[in-house]
Amino acid sequence: MNQTHSAAPSAARYFDLMVPNYAPADFVPVRGEGARVWTADGRELIDLGGGIAVNSLGHCHPELIAALTEQAGMLWHVSNVVTNVPALALAEKLCAETFAERAFFCNSGAEANEAALKLARRYASLKHGEHKHEIVSFSNSFHGRTLFTVSVGGQPKYSEHFGPLPGGIRHLPYNDIAAAEAAIGPQTCAVIVEPLQGEGGVMPADPAFLAALRAACDRHDALLVFDEVQSGVGRTGSLYAYMQTEVTPDVLSTAKGLGGGFPIGAMLTTAEIAAYLPAGTHGTTFGGNPLGCAVAKRVLDIITEPDFLHGVQQRGLAMRAALQDMAARHGIFAGVRGSGLLLGAVTAEPWRGRAGEIVRAGQAAGVWCLVAGPDVVRFAPPLNIDEAELQDGLARLDSALSKLSSAA
Ligand SMILES: *Cc1c(COP(=O)(O)O)cnc(C)c1O
Repeated sequence: MNQTHSAAPSAARYFDLMVPNYAPADFVPVRGEGARVWTADGRELIDLGGGIAVNSLGHCHPELIAALTEQAGMLWHVSNVVTNVPALALAEKLCAETFAERAFFCNSGAEANEAALKLARRYASLKHGEHKHEIVSFSNSFHGRTLFTVSVGGQPKYSEHFGPLPGGIRHLPYNDIAAAEAAIGPQTCAVIVEPLQGEGGVMPADPAFLAALRAACDRHDALLVFDEVQSGVGRTGSLYAYMQTEVTPDVLSTAKGLGGGFPIGAMLTTAEIAAYLPAGTHGTTFGGNPLGCAVAKRVLDIITEPDFLHGVQQRGLAMRAALQDMAARHGIFAGVRGSGLLLGAVTAEPWRGRAGEIVRAGQAAGVWCLVAGPDVVRFAPPLNIDEAELQDGLARLDSALSKLSSAA
């Protein structure tokens, strides 16, 4: 600690050194353990954001350190000119635990979606012809920051001034069954949807909406792609959110929590669909690298242990109840939505547009939460957060809210 302390980097240095595409908070974490982080200037925070739903097992989980360091002493990178043991083991695990029969590995959520969308285009083009190329997506959705994925995403602010944008993409209102049934047709090659919108405000899909999308895709031989980059890997209380619905997608993208903090993404699909990406049609240098795959395999082993997901559901219910109680007492939140340990507290009328202010007040009180747009404070703590840390974090939030509401 002392050494990092004396060399304490200041967050303000960011603007002298970095492309200013982020707006970092005023603290610089240097160490983490479980749901706690310590900053360069010696402060301690309870992390209820989990690195934006990435640190699924908290910071520096001993078993993940072991998986990473064991692999680090064996083999780091071999390229996709060969396969490797950790990649095969991870693919086997993902296929055993989900609908999938084939996996494609990459390094991020955007890349997993990019692969899904390219696969859908190729599948439709080869099976039906070039005319069947339209991708249907929904307002407020978020699918990543590549040019294709910001174009498909339903938040225009992320694609503005980056044009010309790829074409053949159509946006519909989320949870609007009639609009989806009217728009999905013979020209549709894929429908991409988050079963629980994360960045767009922790907004759950209606089960009937997802079922209607499934039926419309079946009618028109369009692929149904579930973007589970944020909702996956145990986050909502099942391994993937689709498992709590009646709907099985054709393609699923996963990343964020998959590596527990190590960058890795995957696109999962069936053998029949996967056959449309034969050798040479798609790839990425680092995808499926042994380090990422070894860590992700260990993450999945832990999350699929008996009772683990039940624990996520229990902690999710406890956290939701505590947030609802705070909503009732402080008048800052109007309600709580989401599922499992992906929860959003929606700001009440006088606090509309001020989620960032609430998050900063929490940070000052030693609890680190996220926003999901200007009106929602988002929570995505480690799935294994212990009772004491969770209660401590919630108590700090409670005191931050007290301060805010008494100052208002
Ligand atoms: C974060 C996110 C992405 C993008 O993932 P990156 O790893 O940042 O590229 C895509 N889809 C959803 C639903 C996400 O939450």
